[in-house]
Amino acid sequence: MSKKIDQITINEKLTVALNIKVKELYTLLQDAAKGYKNIAFASSLGAEDMVLHHAIFQSQALINIFSLDTGRLPNQTYELIDKVRNKYSQSIQIYFPDAQLIENYVTKNGINAFYNSLELRKDCCKIRKVEPLKRALKGKDAWITGLRSAQSQTRDTLEIKAFDDTHQIDKINPLAEWSESEVWAYIKINDVPYNSLHDQFYPSIGCAPCTRAISPGEDIRAGRWWWENPENKECGLHIKD
Ligand code: SF4
Repeated sequence: MSKKIDQITINEKLTVALNIKVKELYTLLQDAAKGYKNIAFASSLGAEDMVLHHAIFQSQALINIFSLDTGRLPNQTYELIDKVRNKYSQSIQIYFPDAQLIENYVTKNGINAFYNSLELRKDCCKIRKVEPLKRALKGKDAWITGLRSAQSQTRDTLEIKAFDDTHQIDKINPLAEWSESEVWAYIKINDVPYNSLHDQFYPSIGCAPCTRAISPGEDIRAGRWWWENPENKECGLHIKD
């Protein structure tokens, strides 16, 4: 199987476009770090998020990084957290779900109840992702994500910066206008660590039981909650994007 990274051809056109975007990205991150008192990057550890990890360290922007461990992540994602720790000598702040909420949900509904209905799936995401995110963003005045507008039909109106009504703080999406090729070219050029599942046809990676590999021609988010309609494919973290 060819690696994701080997599929990227870095030609002159891509290099020129990427150089401009990288310069803009570093400036944006430095300005954001200076402009907000308490800004944090919420890393989902996807390919885009790995670009931001590297860019934050390269630009020396003082931005805290955190990630949510839902308790159902694939082992490859845990391996990636260690790779990041080793490469950058920096740890990522990890937030876990509230144990009592998980215990109640699993006792009442079962460990894999998210397959049974949209409501139960959303409840699981709420407990394992939305509530910990809310805790992680407490006291912050802005947050950064690795979202791109081309990722799905639920994100096609994504802006680089917008006010997040849910958390009542600014939300910055520095890669909103990046293409998938630009993301992978940046990873390749800078030897950025990434989740090995990307090499097994997993373009978008979430919890293990809710993520599958995609087939050629399928939408890049087709492997997330594949049993649901495309318009429902968000976990509540970015519901208004
Ligand atoms: S992605 Fe699946 S396992 Fe993870 S929080 Fe959502 S429903 Fe639960």
